[in-house]
Amino acid sequence: MSSSYISSNVQTLKPSGIRKFFDLASKMDNVISLGVGEPDFVTPWNVIEASYHSLEQGYTAYTANAGLLELREEISIYLNDKFHVTYHPETQVLVTVGASQAIDLALRAVLDPLDEVIVVEPCFVSYAPTVNLAGGKAVTVQAKPENEFKILPSEVEAAITEKTKAIIICSPNNPTGTVLNKEELTAIAEVVKKHDLLVISDEIYAELAYDERATSIAAVEDMIDRTILVSGFSKAFAMTGWRLGYVTGPKEIIQAMTKIHQYTMMCAPTMAQHGALEALRNGNESVLEMKVSYRQRRNFVVDALNDMGLSCHLPGGAFYVFPSIKETGMNSEEFAERLLEEQRVAVVPGHVFGESGEGHIRCSYATSMKQLDESMKRLRKFVEKYTD
Ligand code: PMP
Repeated sequence: MSSSYISSNVQTLKPSGIRKFFDLASKMDNVISLGVGEPDFVTPWNVIEASYHSLEQGYTAYTANAGLLELREEISIYLNDKFHVTYHPETQVLVTVGASQAIDLALRAVLDPLDEVIVVEPCFVSYAPTVNLAGGKAVTVQAKPENEFKILPSEVEAAITEKTKAIIICSPNNPTGTVLNKEELTAIAEVVKKHDLLVISDEIYAELAYDERATSIAAVEDMIDRTILVSGFSKAFAMTGWRLGYVTGPKEIIQAMTKIHQYTMMCAPTMAQHGALEALRNGNESVLEMKVSYRQRRNFVVDALNDMGLSCHLPGGAFYVFPSIKETGMNSEEFAERLLEEQRVAVVPGHVFGESGEGHIRCSYATSMKQLDESMKRLRKFVEKYTD
């Protein structure tokens, strides 16, 4: 009877396919998890200390709705240094509860009922549900394995209708690790401009690009007024539990988002904002150290996977690899279930990230070399059994 109170929007929402594997794995012994999407590092100590000191000094109250002005100024300087994009700290920067809240606010601020949003799959599992919860309609397009999961402008264009308002892109990408370079972003930007759309650009992994610096679509000519740039501290600074992100964009849109934020959240956690300030001011060295380690692990895992016959492109960023498992004849759900059951290695089946993710699995390499080494041995045994 109580289920009849649940809104139809929420009733049709499916639970995340990633959770299922965490729950199964947590009931087993000796499991190596390559399933989680978060750094294995602890937040750099100077960041922890800064947050701790802010508490000692009595900074325990709300901040401004948009976040500490000092932090917004620092974010604006950081983005300018990194991508040469200019955002006014007082009107174009909003500090949020993770990139997750930034995506939610962006969608709620811009969508009217049944406006369409193009979601490029495979992608982070929250995009389509948040579009739908904001009253919009998610229209998925598939990035193809044969293009290293880089979406082509023609594939985007084919999905545009008169109801399309925005497109969500993510580079470096979760789950594929694919990075779109300036030319590829420019080609997508041409379609966006031609059809007068907005881009919600999820750049949470921008610091974690290993071969070339990541570029922002906001930095492409004439895109700054069409881009809502979403980022945060979770990945690069190993701060997932702090719940701190930010969003920048055209003044009107950021102000509209701030209006929703002021009623629904008030502000992001104050102590986390003090930590984030330190992360931006003095965290670069720690990021570089973590990056060196991720890069080494990425190379190790990609070599091991290709060597055992699971073909895998070298992803340019984030901390995921997305190998094909087609050789084994199993679908991704079966593969992940049996691998967990037989070899106690947890990975995420590719289909949970979208249709073109089927035939692949996501392995996170944000875990120690020792664990990676052991998991690759187990995976090799498993693959040998099913490909003989
Ligand atoms: N975007 C992507 C692509 C992600 O992978 C994640 C976390 N898995 C998020 C956003 C959410 O980040 P946050 O912790 O800042 O909410």
